[in-house]
Amino acid sequence: MTKEDHFKKLVAHCKEHGFVFPSSEIYDGLGAVYDYGQLGVELKNNIKRYWWESMVRLHDNVVGLDSAIFMHPTVWKASGHVDAFNDPMIDNKDSKKRYRVDVLIEEQIDKYDEQIEREIEKAAALPGDEFNEIIFRHTDPRVREYTKRRDELSIRLSQALQDDDFDHLRQIIIDNKIVCPVSGTCNWTEVRQFNLMFATEMGFAAEGSNKIFLRPETAQGIFVNFLNVQKSGRMKIPFGIAQVGKAFRNEIVARQFIFRMREFEQMEMQFFVRPGTELEWFNHWKESRMKWHRALGFNAGDYRFHDHEKLAHYANAATDIEYRFPFGFKEVEGIHSRTDFDLRRHQEFSGKKIQYFDPELNESFTPHVVETSIGLDRMFLQVISAAYYEDEVIKKKSSTAKETRVVLGLPPALAPVKLAVMPLVKKNGLPEKATEILDQLRFDFNCQYDDKDSIGRRYRRQDAIGTPFCITVDYSTLTDNNVTIRYRDSMQQERVDVEDLPAFLKEKTDMKTLLRQLY
Ligand code: ATP
Repeated sequence: MTKEDHFKKLVAHCKEHGFVFPSSEIYDGLGAVYDYGQLGVELKNNIKRYWWESMVRLHDNVVGLDSAIFMHPTVWKASGHVDAFNDPMIDNKDSKKRYRVDVLIEEQIDKYDEQIEREIEKAAALPGDEFNEIIFRHTDPRVREYTKRRDELSIRLSQALQDDDFDHLRQIIIDNKIVCPVSGTCNWTEVRQFNLMFATEMGFAAEGSNKIFLRPETAQGIFVNFLNVQKSGRMKIPFGIAQVGKAFRNEIVARQFIFRMREFEQMEMQFFVRPGTELEWFNHWKESRMKWHRALGFNAGDYRFHDHEKLAHYANAATDIEYRFPFGFKEVEGIHSRTDFDLRRHQEFSGKKIQYFDPELNESFTPHVVETSIGLDRMFLQVISAAYYEDEVIKKKSSTAKETRVVLGLPPALAPVKLAVMPLVKKNGLPEKATEILDQLRFDFNCQYDDKDSIGRRYRRQDAIGTPFCITVDYSTLTDNNVTIRYRDSMQQERVDVEDLPAFLKEKTDMKTLLRQLY
């Protein structure tokens, strides 16, 4: 299966099984806005819980917050979003489509990477001596040429972005013959800046309406509450404030499903530290966040750091945790050392002193901030991309015919449904026994009852939504109180006493199993 097919199947799967739907679909949808269905909301809530509990519950010095989406308009002046939350855009004159320039160029870089990977795959598949990838990368003329082009392009892009040089950005597009994906032409306009914030109005016209913005990040809600939380919680530096909430950006390039949305959720933590210690904390959080991702048990080679060469004017270090999505390595989370920029700016614009008195140093200062910022929806896409696979299984025990099994190999703690309870047949007291078991378990675990179709088909349905365990209630259950438990991944089956089910499920599916790996 090509990566493109894999991604298309994933998107279709999300809709077919009630994970993600296009917003207002009966009206043909709304660009880059999505709704989470009955299983999607469960998975999303579990991811959110994994983040929240690892941040707030496992750290004595991190507390939560839920600030409002609407904020005083001056917040966005102080934060720099009114003046600088812009992206350089370019329009294709033939298709009339608008693109983010850095994204267009990065896609070209990805294409070189794909060409390199393809050459390597082809060479590795040839019969002969043992294949040495490192030597091949250094000696194959085609790979060397693609690598050279990719590296040159990458250097030019970061230089042009660093200098805010729009002519240079446009020239890169022309020199690399980057075409519009829709029209296929190179007929580009000049590069221009567009602000990404959504604006609305607060109050009635008679009162004099005020333009306000839908927040483009949750972080500012944390900064403006720094003093409130620090004082009311008697927090001592270093400490962090964590928040999960909606953010809105009028993204121009809104593609790749829920990767880039106009309305999305962020999980952000701002960690306040003594000036001069921020790089130490930056490295601490960098490692800590990667550990959080890796604890999910997906392929470790699919994650990497991308340290920023071009730093925002307020940052003194920044990195992204990238995941190998079906469309290439892309950012899932950003970790930024934001200096004292935000608190200083809010102090300046509000006229209120925003400082911390350090009793050990006996001095006041503006704390520096290290931020970890991850998109909940993007994390959802990462999890589901990593979890989706197809394998070939024997159709029936009695035959050798095979069928394709679609599986969401979700970590059990994140799976929307932990257990499906299935009576073997819909009669002779089996449904009643299955319901009795379900009624005992439903208070602790999200369970489903399924008595339709053959057991094989019921297993397939549960595999497709990532349910880690299915139990079958059969005639023996009525006498020995044992059920057959079937594992999603190995498809192994074993008999378990109904009395042991709560402990079994707790051990296998509890969030604690993930959190323990972090502590
Ligand atoms: P990108 O370069 O992909 O636009 P960014 O660097 O602007 O992302 P940040 O402002 O650092 O992103 O936001 C932090 C996190 O929020 C990102 O790592 C991503 O997971 C998420 N995020 C940002 N924009 C979007 C979006 N439009 N849709 C979904 N998630 C988003």
